[in-house]
Amino acid sequence: MSDCLVIGGGVIGLMSARMLAISGAKVTLIDQRECGKESSWAGGGIISPLYPWHYDDLTNDLSFESQAVYEGLCDDLYHSSGIDPQYQKSGLLMMDEFETVEAQSWMKRYQVSYEDHVNGALFTHVASVRNPKLLQALKVDIINKGVTIVENTPADKLIINNNKVLGVNTTKGDFFADNIVACAGAWSGKLLDIKDDVFPIKGQMILLKAQIGDVEHIVLDQGRYIIPRADGRILVGSTMENVGFDRSLDETTKLSLYEFASELFPVLSSAEIEHHWSGFRPASRSGKVILGKSEKYDNLFINTGHFRNGLNMAPASADKITQLVNEKI
Ligand SMILES: Cc1cc2nc3c(=O)[nH]c(=O)nc-3n(C[C@H](O)[C@H](O)[C@H](O)COP(=O)(O)OP(=O)(O)OC[C@H]3O[C@@H](n4cnc5c(N)ncnc54)[C@H](O)[C@@H]3O)c2cc1C
Repeated sequence: MSDCLVIGGGVIGLMSARMLAISGAKVTLIDQRECGKESSWAGGGIISPLYPWHYDDLTNDLSFESQAVYEGLCDDLYHSSGIDPQYQKSGLLMMDEFETVEAQSWMKRYQVSYEDHVNGALFTHVASVRNPKLLQALKVDIINKGVTIVENTPADKLIINNNKVLGVNTTKGDFFADNIVACAGAWSGKLLDIKDDVFPIKGQMILLKAQIGDVEHIVLDQGRYIIPRADGRILVGSTMENVGFDRSLDETTKLSLYEFASELFPVLSSAEIEHHWSGFRPASRSGKVILGKSEKYDNLFINTGHFRNGLNMAPASADKITQLVNEKI
Protein backbone atom coordinates (compact mmCIF):
# COMPACT_ATOMS: atom_id res chain seq x y z
CA MET A 1 0.00 0.00 0.00
CA SER A 2 1.43 3.39 -0.98
CA ASP A 3 1.46 6.42 1.32
CA CYS A 4 0.03 9.65 -0.06
CA LEU A 5 0.29 13.08 1.46
CA VAL A 6 -2.33 15.52 0.17
CA ILE A 7 -1.53 19.19 0.80
CA GLY A 8 -4.66 21.35 1.02
CA GLY A 9 -8.17 20.44 2.14
CA GLY A 10 -10.36 22.43 -0.22
CA VAL A 11 -12.74 20.62 -2.53
CA ILE A 12 -9.83 19.54 -4.75
CA GLY A 13 -7.75 18.12 -1.89
CA LEU A 14 -10.71 16.50 -0.13
CA MET A 15 -11.95 14.81 -3.31
CA SER A 16 -8.42 13.77 -4.29
CA ALA A 17 -7.87 12.27 -0.84
CA ARG A 18 -11.20 10.46 -1.16
CA MET A 19 -10.36 8.90 -4.53
CA LEU A 20 -6.85 7.97 -3.43
CA ALA A 21 -8.27 6.27 -0.33
CA ILE A 22 -10.85 4.43 -2.45
CA SER A 23 -8.01 3.24 -4.73
CA GLY A 24 -6.30 1.68 -1.70
CA ALA A 25 -3.72 4.30 -0.69
CA LYS A 26 -2.96 5.23 2.89
CA VAL A 27 -3.72 8.95 2.85
CA THR A 28 -2.84 11.86 5.12
CA LEU A 29 -4.23 15.30 4.31
CA ILE A 30 -2.80 18.47 5.83
CA ASP A 31 -4.28 21.97 5.74
CA GLN A 32 -2.83 25.25 6.91
CA ARG A 33 -6.11 26.05 8.64
CA GLU A 34 -9.40 24.11 8.84
CA CYS A 35 -10.35 22.06 5.78
CA GLY A 36 -12.94 23.56 3.45
CA LYS A 37 -12.80 27.13 4.71
CA GLU A 38 -11.21 28.90 1.74
CA SER A 39 -12.27 29.26 -1.90
CA SER A 40 -14.32 26.07 -1.89
CA TRP A 41 -16.41 27.42 0.96
CA ALA A 42 -16.66 30.91 -0.57
CA GLY A 43 -17.84 29.72 -3.99
CA GLY A 44 -21.35 29.55 -5.40
CA GLY A 45 -21.54 25.83 -6.08
CA ILE A 46 -22.73 25.98 -9.69
CA ILE A 47 -21.88 22.66 -11.33
CA SER A 48 -21.02 24.16 -14.71
CA PRO A 49 -18.74 26.86 -16.07
CA LEU A 50 -20.70 30.12 -16.35
CA TYR A 51 -20.13 30.56 -20.09
CA PRO A 52 -18.53 27.21 -20.99
CA TRP A 53 -17.38 28.41 -24.44
CA HIS A 54 -14.92 30.75 -22.71
CA TYR A 55 -12.92 27.71 -21.54
CA ASP A 56 -10.57 25.18 -23.10
CA ASP A 57 -11.29 21.53 -23.90
CA LEU A 58 -9.77 20.20 -20.65
CA THR A 59 -12.06 22.39 -18.54
CA ASN A 60 -15.08 21.34 -20.56
CA ASP A 61 -14.15 17.66 -20.46
CA LEU A 62 -13.56 17.71 -16.69
CA SER A 63 -16.84 19.59 -16.24
CA PHE A 64 -18.91 17.13 -18.25
CA GLU A 65 -17.27 14.14 -16.55
CA SER A 66 -18.00 15.68 -13.16
CA GLN A 67 -21.58 16.62 -14.05
CA ALA A 68 -22.23 12.98 -14.96
CA VAL A 69 -21.29 11.74 -11.46
CA TYR A 70 -22.21 14.63 -9.14
CA GLU A 71 -25.72 13.57 -8.15
CA GLY A 72 -24.62 10.01 -7.30
CA LEU A 73 -21.59 11.34 -5.44
CA CYS A 74 -23.79 13.63 -3.33
CA ASP A 75 -26.08 10.68 -2.53
CA ASP A 76 -23.07 8.60 -1.46
CA LEU A 77 -21.73 11.43 0.68
CA TYR A 78 -25.12 11.91 2.33
CA HIS A 79 -25.32 8.20 3.19
CA SER A 80 -21.77 8.09 4.48
CA SER A 81 -21.78 11.36 6.46
CA GLY A 82 -25.41 12.16 7.28
CA ILE A 83 -24.82 15.63 5.77
CA ASP A 84 -26.80 16.56 2.65
CA PRO A 85 -24.76 18.50 0.05
CA GLN A 86 -28.11 19.67 -1.39
CA TYR A 87 -27.53 18.84 -5.03
CA GLN A 88 -30.35 20.45 -6.98
CA LYS A 89 -30.86 20.52 -10.72
CA SER A 90 -32.59 23.87 -10.86
CA GLY A 91 -31.33 24.73 -14.36
CA LEU A 92 -29.40 27.83 -15.40
CA LEU A 93 -31.21 30.70 -17.10
CA MET A 94 -28.69 32.54 -19.24
CA MET A 95 -29.83 36.00 -20.24
CA ASP A 96 -26.94 36.98 -22.50
CA GLU A 97 -24.29 35.51 -24.84
CA PHE A 98 -26.14 32.29 -25.70
CA GLU A 99 -26.82 33.45 -29.26
CA THR A 100 -23.20 34.24 -30.17
CA VAL A 101 -21.45 32.17 -32.84
CA GLU A 102 -19.03 30.88 -30.17
CA ALA A 103 -21.86 29.74 -27.90
CA GLN A 104 -23.82 28.11 -30.70
CA SER A 105 -20.81 26.19 -32.00
CA TRP A 106 -20.00 25.00 -28.46
CA MET A 107 -23.57 23.72 -28.08
CA LYS A 108 -23.34 21.91 -31.39
CA ARG A 109 -20.00 20.37 -30.53
CA TYR A 110 -21.05 19.14 -27.08
CA GLN A 111 -24.65 18.42 -28.10
CA VAL A 112 -26.07 20.71 -25.45
CA SER A 113 -29.43 22.35 -25.99
CA TYR A 114 -31.57 24.78 -24.05
CA GLU A 115 -35.24 25.49 -23.60
CA ASP A 116 -36.50 28.86 -24.82
CA HIS A 117 -37.42 31.05 -21.91
CA VAL A 118 -39.05 34.48 -21.99
CA ASN A 119 -35.84 35.95 -20.51
CA GLY A 120 -33.22 33.91 -22.38
CA ALA A 121 -32.02 30.32 -22.60
CA LEU A 122 -32.74 27.76 -19.90
CA PHE A 123 -30.01 25.11 -19.61
CA THR A 124 -31.98 22.50 -17.71
CA HIS A 125 -29.00 20.18 -17.13
CA VAL A 126 -27.19 22.64 -14.82
CA ALA A 127 -27.26 21.90 -11.08
CA SER A 128 -25.81 23.45 -7.94
CA VAL A 129 -24.62 22.14 -4.60
CA ARG A 130 -24.53 23.87 -1.23
CA ASN A 131 -20.76 23.86 -1.16
CA PRO A 132 -20.20 24.40 2.61
CA LYS A 133 -22.35 21.29 3.20
CA LEU A 134 -20.54 19.38 0.46
CA LEU A 135 -17.23 20.13 2.18
CA GLN A 136 -18.50 19.08 5.61
CA ALA A 137 -19.85 15.85 4.10
CA LEU A 138 -16.57 15.16 2.30
CA LYS A 139 -14.58 15.66 5.48
CA VAL A 140 -16.67 13.16 7.44
CA ASP A 141 -16.70 10.72 4.52
CA ILE A 142 -12.93 10.65 4.06
CA ILE A 143 -12.38 10.16 7.77
CA ASN A 144 -14.79 7.20 7.49
CA LYS A 145 -12.63 5.95 4.62
CA GLY A 146 -9.50 6.01 6.80
CA VAL A 147 -7.91 9.31 5.73
CA THR A 148 -5.94 11.08 8.49
CA ILE A 149 -6.66 14.81 8.53
CA VAL A 150 -4.18 17.18 10.16
CA GLU A 151 -5.43 20.78 10.33
CA ASN A 152 -3.78 24.10 11.25
CA THR A 153 -0.57 22.74 9.81
CA PRO A 154 0.93 24.75 6.94
CA ALA A 155 3.33 22.93 4.63
CA ASP A 156 6.25 25.35 4.52
CA LYS A 157 8.68 23.62 2.20
CA LEU A 158 9.09 20.42 0.25
CA ILE A 159 11.81 18.11 1.55
CA ILE A 160 13.89 17.14 -1.48
CA ASN A 161 16.58 14.50 -1.72
CA ASN A 162 18.11 13.07 -4.91
CA ASN A 163 15.45 14.61 -7.12
CA LYS A 164 12.67 13.05 -5.07
CA VAL A 165 10.20 14.75 -2.76
CA LEU A 166 10.40 12.92 0.54
CA GLY A 167 7.76 15.01 2.28
CA VAL A 168 7.12 18.48 3.67
CA ASN A 169 8.34 20.60 6.59
CA THR A 170 5.55 22.00 8.74
CA THR A 171 5.38 23.86 12.02
CA LYS A 172 4.20 20.58 13.53
CA GLY A 173 7.15 18.55 12.30
CA ASP A 174 7.98 16.79 9.04
CA PHE A 175 5.52 14.62 7.11
CA PHE A 176 6.88 11.93 4.78
CA ALA A 177 5.11 9.96 2.05
CA ASP A 178 5.75 7.93 -1.12
CA ASN A 179 3.67 10.39 -3.16
CA ILE A 180 2.80 14.02 -2.58
CA VAL A 181 -0.38 15.49 -4.09
CA ALA A 182 -0.39 19.29 -3.94
CA CYS A 183 -3.88 20.85 -3.90
CA ALA A 184 -3.08 24.17 -2.25
CA GLY A 185 -5.50 26.31 -4.28
CA ALA A 186 -4.52 29.97 -4.67
CA TRP A 187 -1.51 29.36 -2.39
CA SER A 188 0.02 26.79 -4.76
CA GLY A 189 2.41 29.36 -6.22
CA LYS A 190 3.84 30.00 -2.74
CA LEU A 191 4.49 26.33 -2.05
CA LEU A 192 5.56 25.04 -5.45
CA ASP A 193 7.90 26.21 -8.13
CA ILE A 194 5.39 25.87 -10.99
CA LYS A 195 6.19 27.20 -14.43
CA ASP A 196 2.57 28.22 -14.90
CA ASP A 197 2.25 30.42 -11.81
CA VAL A 198 -0.88 30.25 -9.62
CA PHE A 199 -2.28 33.37 -7.97
CA PRO A 200 -5.52 34.52 -6.26
CA ILE A 201 -8.43 36.27 -7.96
CA LYS A 202 -10.71 37.54 -5.24
CA GLY A 203 -14.48 37.22 -5.54
CA GLN A 204 -17.06 38.86 -3.28
CA MET A 205 -20.50 37.41 -2.76
CA ILE A 206 -23.64 38.15 -0.72
CA LEU A 207 -26.36 35.94 0.77
CA LEU A 208 -29.98 37.11 0.86
CA LYS A 209 -32.61 35.72 3.17
CA ALA A 210 -35.42 35.19 0.67
CA GLN A 211 -38.35 32.78 0.52
CA ILE A 212 -38.57 29.42 -1.24
CA GLY A 213 -39.91 30.05 -4.75
CA ASP A 214 -38.72 33.67 -5.01
CA VAL A 215 -36.13 32.51 -7.55
CA GLU A 216 -36.58 29.22 -9.37
CA HIS A 217 -33.43 28.84 -11.49
CA ILE A 218 -29.79 29.87 -11.32
CA VAL A 219 -29.74 33.12 -13.31
CA LEU A 220 -26.72 34.48 -15.19
CA ASP A 221 -26.53 37.91 -16.79
CA GLN A 222 -23.43 39.87 -17.83
CA GLY A 223 -21.11 37.78 -15.71
CA ARG A 224 -23.16 38.09 -12.51
CA TYR A 225 -25.37 35.38 -11.13
CA ILE A 226 -28.07 34.47 -8.63
CA ILE A 227 -28.22 31.00 -7.09
CA PRO A 228 -31.30 29.76 -5.20
CA ARG A 229 -30.68 27.40 -2.28
CA ALA A 230 -33.16 24.73 -1.16
CA ASP A 231 -34.24 26.77 1.89
CA GLY A 232 -35.02 29.88 -0.18
CA ARG A 233 -31.78 31.72 0.53
CA ILE A 234 -30.15 33.36 -2.48
CA LEU A 235 -26.47 33.81 -3.29
CA VAL A 236 -25.49 36.73 -5.49
CA GLY A 237 -22.05 36.95 -7.05
CA SER A 238 -19.54 37.96 -7.84
CA THR A 239 -16.49 40.15 -8.46
CA MET A 240 -13.17 39.38 -10.16
CA GLU A 241 -10.41 41.28 -8.34
CA ASN A 242 -6.70 40.87 -8.95
CA VAL A 243 -5.61 42.26 -5.56
CA GLY A 244 -3.48 39.49 -4.04
CA PHE A 245 -4.47 37.91 -0.73
CA ASP A 246 -6.59 40.85 0.43
CA ARG A 247 -9.81 39.57 2.03
CA SER A 248 -11.36 43.00 2.62
CA LEU A 249 -15.00 43.64 1.70
CA ASP A 250 -16.46 46.86 0.38
CA GLU A 251 -19.90 48.37 0.71
CA THR A 252 -20.04 49.48 -2.95
CA THR A 253 -19.72 45.90 -4.12
CA LYS A 254 -22.26 44.69 -1.57
CA LEU A 255 -24.77 47.28 -2.77
CA SER A 256 -24.10 46.63 -6.43
CA LEU A 257 -24.69 42.87 -6.03
CA TYR A 258 -27.89 43.60 -4.11
CA GLU A 259 -29.09 45.99 -6.83
CA PHE A 260 -28.29 43.48 -9.55
CA ALA A 261 -30.46 40.86 -7.81
CA SER A 262 -33.34 43.14 -6.87
CA GLU A 263 -33.55 44.68 -10.35
CA LEU A 264 -33.95 41.21 -11.85
CA PHE A 265 -36.28 40.04 -9.06
CA PRO A 266 -38.08 42.99 -7.40
CA VAL A 267 -39.31 40.61 -4.68
CA LEU A 268 -35.70 40.49 -3.42
CA SER A 269 -35.62 44.22 -2.69
CA SER A 270 -37.12 43.46 0.73
CA ALA A 271 -34.75 40.54 1.44
CA GLU A 272 -32.22 41.01 4.22
CA ILE A 273 -28.51 40.71 3.35
CA GLU A 274 -27.46 38.00 5.79
CA HIS A 275 -23.83 37.69 4.85
CA HIS A 276 -21.10 39.22 2.67
CA TRP A 277 -17.77 37.45 2.10
CA SER A 278 -14.83 36.97 -0.21
CA GLY A 279 -12.69 34.08 -1.41
CA PHE A 280 -9.59 33.50 -3.51
CA ARG A 281 -10.04 31.61 -6.77
CA PRO A 282 -6.86 29.76 -7.80
CA ALA A 283 -6.03 31.29 -11.20
CA SER A 284 -3.11 30.23 -13.41
CA ARG A 285 -1.22 32.51 -15.82
CA SER A 286 -2.15 30.31 -18.77
CA GLY A 287 -5.81 30.12 -17.71
CA LYS A 288 -5.54 26.33 -17.71
CA VAL A 289 -6.05 23.78 -14.96
CA ILE A 290 -2.74 22.37 -13.70
CA LEU A 291 -3.39 18.67 -13.33
CA GLY A 292 -0.58 16.17 -13.55
CA LYS A 293 2.84 14.98 -12.49
CA SER A 294 5.41 17.68 -11.73
CA GLU A 295 8.03 18.14 -14.43
CA LYS A 296 10.80 17.97 -11.84
CA TYR A 297 9.85 15.22 -9.44
CA ASP A 298 8.44 11.81 -10.24
CA ASN A 299 6.45 11.50 -7.04
CA LEU A 300 4.97 15.02 -6.88
CA PHE A 301 1.49 15.47 -8.35
CA ILE A 302 -0.26 18.80 -8.78
CA ASN A 303 -4.01 19.42 -8.86
CA THR A 304 -4.74 23.15 -8.92
CA GLY A 305 -5.55 26.24 -10.99
CA HIS A 306 -9.26 25.48 -11.22
CA PHE A 307 -10.05 29.20 -11.09
CA ARG A 308 -13.86 29.68 -11.34
CA ASN A 309 -14.64 26.00 -11.78
CA GLY A 310 -13.12 23.99 -8.96
CA LEU A 311 -16.37 22.85 -7.38
CA ASN A 312 -17.59 21.90 -10.77
CA MET A 313 -14.46 20.03 -11.92
CA ALA A 314 -13.42 18.46 -8.60
CA PRO A 315 -14.73 14.88 -9.05
CA ALA A 316 -13.11 14.36 -12.46
CA SER A 317 -9.88 16.14 -11.41
CA ALA A 318 -9.65 13.88 -8.35
CA ASP A 319 -10.22 10.85 -10.51
CA LYS A 320 -7.47 11.87 -12.97
CA ILE A 321 -4.87 12.62 -10.31
CA THR A 322 -5.60 9.27 -8.63
CA GLN A 323 -5.09 7.47 -11.95
CA LEU A 324 -1.77 9.24 -12.43
CA VAL A 325 -0.56 8.41 -8.92
CA ASN A 326 -1.52 4.78 -9.41
CA GLU A 327 0.07 4.55 -12.88
CA LYS A 328 3.37 5.51 -11.29
CA ILE A 329 3.27 2.74 -8.72
C1 LIG B 1 -16.86 34.04 -5.07
C2 LIG B 1 -16.53 32.72 -5.70
C3 LIG B 1 -17.51 32.02 -6.41
C4 LIG B 1 -17.23 30.78 -6.99
N1 LIG B 1 -18.24 30.07 -7.58
C5 LIG B 1 -17.98 28.84 -8.09
C6 LIG B 1 -19.01 28.05 -8.65
O1 LIG B 1 -20.19 28.43 -8.63
N2 LIG B 1 -18.69 26.85 -9.19
C7 LIG B 1 -17.41 26.38 -9.21
O2 LIG B 1 -17.17 25.31 -9.73
N3 LIG B 1 -16.41 27.10 -8.67
C8 LIG B 1 -16.66 28.31 -8.11
N4 LIG B 1 -15.65 29.05 -7.57
C9 LIG B 1 -14.28 28.56 -7.69
C10 LIG B 1 -14.01 27.46 -6.70
O3 LIG B 1 -14.43 27.88 -5.42
C11 LIG B 1 -12.52 27.12 -6.72
O4 LIG B 1 -12.10 26.82 -8.02
C12 LIG B 1 -12.25 25.91 -5.84
O5 LIG B 1 -12.78 26.11 -4.56
C13 LIG B 1 -10.76 25.63 -5.73
O6 LIG B 1 -10.61 24.58 -4.82
P1 LIG B 1 -9.23 24.29 -4.15
O7 LIG B 1 -9.39 23.11 -3.29
O8 LIG B 1 -8.16 24.27 -5.19
O9 LIG B 1 -8.93 25.63 -3.30
P2 LIG B 1 -9.33 26.02 -1.80
O10 LIG B 1 -10.73 25.72 -1.51
O11 LIG B 1 -8.89 27.43 -1.61
O12 LIG B 1 -8.46 25.05 -0.93
C14 LIG B 1 -7.07 25.14 -0.85
C15 LIG B 1 -6.71 24.66 0.54
O13 LIG B 1 -5.29 24.53 0.63
C16 LIG B 1 -4.89 24.96 1.91
N5 LIG B 1 -3.48 25.33 1.80
C17 LIG B 1 -2.94 26.29 1.01
N6 LIG B 1 -1.60 26.31 1.16
C18 LIG B 1 -1.28 25.36 2.07
C19 LIG B 1 -0.07 24.92 2.65
N7 LIG B 1 1.12 25.46 2.32
N8 LIG B 1 -0.11 23.92 3.56
C20 LIG B 1 -1.30 23.36 3.91
N9 LIG B 1 -2.48 23.75 3.40
C21 LIG B 1 -2.49 24.73 2.47
C22 LIG B 1 -5.82 26.14 2.22
O14 LIG B 1 -5.91 26.41 3.60
C23 LIG B 1 -7.13 25.64 1.63
O15 LIG B 1 -7.94 24.96 2.58
C24 LIG B 1 -15.92 30.26 -6.92
C25 LIG B 1 -14.94 30.93 -6.19
C26 LIG B 1 -15.24 32.16 -5.57
C27 LIG B 1 -14.18 32.84 -4.76
